[in-house]
Amino acid sequence: MARIAIGGFHHETNCFVDSRTDFAYFASHRDRPPLVYGDDVVQWLTGTTFAIAGFMSDMNARHDLVPLLWTSGGAGAMVTRDAFERIVGSLVGRLSEAMPVDAVYLDLHGAMVTEDFEDGEGELLRRVRAVVGPHTPVAVSLDYHSNVTPQMVDFSDAMIAYRTYPHVDRVETGQFAAKAMEVLLSRGRPSGRALRKAPFLIPLNGQCTLVEPSKGVVELSRVAEEGLVNLSYLAGFPPSDLHWCGPSVVAHAWTQADAERAADEMLRAIVAEEANFAEVMVSPDEGVARAIEVSRTAKRPVVLADTQDNPGCGGTADATGLLKALVSADAQGAVVGFLCDAEAAKAAHAAGEGAKIQIALGGRSGPAGVTPFEATFTVTKLGDGKFNSDGAVSGGRKIDVGPMALLTLGGVSVVVTSKRLQAYDQAGFRHVGIEPSKQKILALKSTCHYRAEFEPIAQEVIVVLAPGYYLADPTLYPFKKLRAGVRLKPLGPTFSGPPNAPARLP
Ligand SMILES: [Zn+2]
Repeated sequence: MARIAIGGFHHETNCFVDSRTDFAYFASHRDRPPLVYGDDVVQWLTGTTFAIAGFMSDMNARHDLVPLLWTSGGAGAMVTRDAFERIVGSLVGRLSEAMPVDAVYLDLHGAMVTEDFEDGEGELLRRVRAVVGPHTPVAVSLDYHSNVTPQMVDFSDAMIAYRTYPHVDRVETGQFAAKAMEVLLSRGRPSGRALRKAPFLIPLNGQCTLVEPSKGVVELSRVAEEGLVNLSYLAGFPPSDLHWCGPSVVAHAWTQADAERAADEMLRAIVAEEANFAEVMVSPDEGVARAIEVSRTAKRPVVLADTQDNPGCGGTADATGLLKALVSADAQGAVVGFLCDAEAAKAAHAAGEGAKIQIALGGRSGPAGVTPFEATFTVTKLGDGKFNSDGAVSGGRKIDVGPMALLTLGGVSVVVTSKRLQAYDQAGFRHVGIEPSKQKILALKSTCHYRAEFEPIAQEVIVVLAPGYYLADPTLYPFKKLRAGVRLKPLGPTFSGPPNAPARLP
């Protein structure tokens, strides 16, 4: 039996959102647990669809697990210095108190940018390594969207990534991390490790593993076989502005030669498919016109994905472009979910079910061109925003997104939340009396996760480009830190370096 410290700290930073993610945000209960410490980690995370739940379920009976802390800030603006230092300070402090430990397991995302560190996880792992010393294995599980850096690879001994997007295998990823941990416990730290970066960024819309080429790439992943601790593919999160942004292949192995051979082979498979990482997207008006036409005869809903306002990519979830297109086209039987506007939810609760309220809905967070939608809505249904999620991506969570309301205007209804909630689960709709499969049109603020729960009930899926803080096209990002020479999308233009970049030394 080994003594293993466990913990987690997630953030997926969209550096192009004009705000900050602070400590209070991590501490709050939203569509995921609040920041929890010690035994509360076990209480809150057991049975959820997070990777740490899979790790705990496999390792609990066999080893002495010492929970440090766990928190997830989801996706959003840059993490404040205060939040990072308080959370990492607690995690590292608790680890120091827990010493000696035989190993450490961390459930991380791998795309965290803070006010001080463009490689948040690399800095966290540096500090963890400083506490445990040079001989103790450190295994991490990572989100498929991790932007892996050399520092992260050097300080860790296993890196296991989700193999799905939509992420329906987080628990399995934690179990793979447990499998990797067992070999680390018996053989010690591996001497081989290799990181390879693809020469191009892949937009999130081109990363879905339900289809090729991403499907074939993730199938090449390995854990604890063929001389490897792991061979992992991580598609990257393009809106994180850091030197090492972009798709990665990581191998940890018992020899350096094996790590390099495996990583090179997987990278070749990715590069060979460069032209095929793509998704068709249309304007809101075009998408709505198509949805209305199809929905006239369809027996199942037509899904419109409002990809650029996806809170899972750092969107504010209050953009109104697609809503306006639906109303102006006089769509019938359409439901928008989920639009985050705490003031609107409050006004609806004050007025009560059946009342009419004249409000300016959403559109207050930008970006430029996004404005509130002013109208008189009927308050069709109210909810307290507390319910349990049950889908493949995020099931088993106690959700608390604050007061909710279903607001209706003609043939269009909007499910309003008080905290951001990606449309990756049907439970939020049912909470306000909407059965998703019975609608004509579902407009969902999501980029890919909706596909797990909504594509199976959909007649057709149409991805639209309404304005939002997640830009689907990475060539539009004002990168400042990205390394020069990377193509900004598959077959796209090469990034020549940040504006006014200091001249490089020879
Ligand atoms: Zn992800």
